[in-house]
Amino acid sequence: MTARIIDGKAFAARVREKVKDHVTRLKEDHGITPGLAVVLVGEDPASQVYVRSKGKQTVEAGMKSVEYKLDADTSEEDLLKVVQQLNDDPEIHGILVQLPLPKHLNEDLVIGSIDPAKDVDGFHISNVGLLGTGQKSMVPCTPLGCLMMLRDHHGSISGMDAVVIGRSNIVGKPMAQLLLGDSCTVTIAHSRTRDLPEVVRRADIVVAAVGRPEMVPGDWIKPGATVIDVGINRLDAPEKGEGKTRLVGDVEYESCAKVAGAITPVPGGVGPMTIACLLANTVTACCRANGLPEPEGLTA
Ligand code: NAD
Repeated sequence: MTARIIDGKAFAARVREKVKDHVTRLKEDHGITPGLAVVLVGEDPASQVYVRSKGKQTVEAGMKSVEYKLDADTSEEDLLKVVQQLNDDPEIHGILVQLPLPKHLNEDLVIGSIDPAKDVDGFHISNVGLLGTGQKSMVPCTPLGCLMMLRDHHGSISGMDAVVIGRSNIVGKPMAQLLLGDSCTVTIAHSRTRDLPEVVRRADIVVAAVGRPEMVPGDWIKPGATVIDVGINRLDAPEKGEGKTRLVGDVEYESCAKVAGAITPVPGGVGPMTIACLLANTVTACCRANGLPEPEGLTA
């Protein structure tokens, strides 16, 4: 079997189009422009790239984009003031504080200070609790993107065996909750799991979110299973020239694609879906804030 490639780049473009259409309707029918504020503290190069890309895509979707770039030595008090100002701003519907924060800042405290209704990253403890109890919440963007791709590929995933490898708060745990919400039988595997290959071999759906390059080989995959590779790992690629690198996921693409029924590539799989889902969450938050119906197909 050769797996069908789930094209996250194309899927993300479709999500962005849906978001843009909805934004146009919000503007024309209600005079409302959804607004997203991104707060970056410090000069972490990867974070700067993400923030630039988020701002660009927000504007392309017709939304208002606001960026706060604060010095690396910004005090917790000053950062909390910025968040409070955004909480109080009726033109801002989504607030994202780019992580990681510099070490002197308490991430839990800062995330906890965001109005849960504007918490488009879905990391606030209220949203974690709402998701865990199957209630309407803001859902973390990367797992939401994975769920959208799974629904699109399968139609329904009800009753399927799903294994999530990784138990982080931003990917593994919310992913497991979303799969459970769609009535999968869910196993969360992690670094202490006994006999991981056997656990993975049972799965109709494998979501790998570990951060270990190509750790899942093809002979762990049940024939026909769907493999969602969340991992983004940069490896040296001397074959491409001096100092060059390449991106690989957490699964060994070549061998897994021979066994799986469908697979997301890296790059071009889960990655592009994350920002698309951030835009989707901002529109959802805007609709909820204004008592309007939520956009179809853009929420969990
Ligand atoms: P994390 O480091 O917070 O969590 C990794 C998890 O993997 C842990 O729960 C740990 O128990 C588990 N783990 C570690 N070693 C293991 C092993 N040998 N066997 C089984 N489980 C093991 O990472 P994270 O933030 O969840 O990110 C995971 C990966 O996803 C990273 O590569 C990250 O770059 C990527 N990521 C991608 C996106 C995206 O937009 N595509 C977003 C977030 C994270």
